[in-house]
Amino acid sequence: MYCAECKKLINKVINYKNIFKLSKHNICDLCFSKYIFIQSFDVVPTNNYLLYINTLFDDYKSSDAMASFLKPYYIYYLKNFKDKIIMYFDTIDDDVYSKLNLLNMSDIFIITLKNQLKGGNNNDD
Ligand SMILES: [Zn+2]
Repeated sequence: MYCAECKKLINKVINYKNIFKLSKHNICDLCFSKYIFIQSFDVVPTNNYLLYINTLFDDYKSSDAMASFLKPYYIYYLKNFKDKIIMYFDTIDDDVYSKLNLLNMSDIFIITLKNQLKGGNNNDD
């Protein structure tokens, strides 16, 4: 298995114990250490409903490399928010937020790698 960002081989030592085991992660430890795992949970109102936004990282380069870190959040959704809609976005920003406002269906549980919504506690200025 190769790292999705630097293209280096992740599992270098292959022996009879791990030859048929697939690596769970698509990113090597060195590339992963460049990102800060923030894991924030924000509740943002839309016109009539709420968005439950799970933000995982401060930044990312390749969303494919980060895909293996999403599973716990899907399990969390199935245990606690099963009656709501689930959506995944690589980055959530004001453009996505305005489109979610138009849906007007129900509360939405959102998993995202990066949160760029203006306002709230993630505003840097
Ligand atoms: Zn790498």
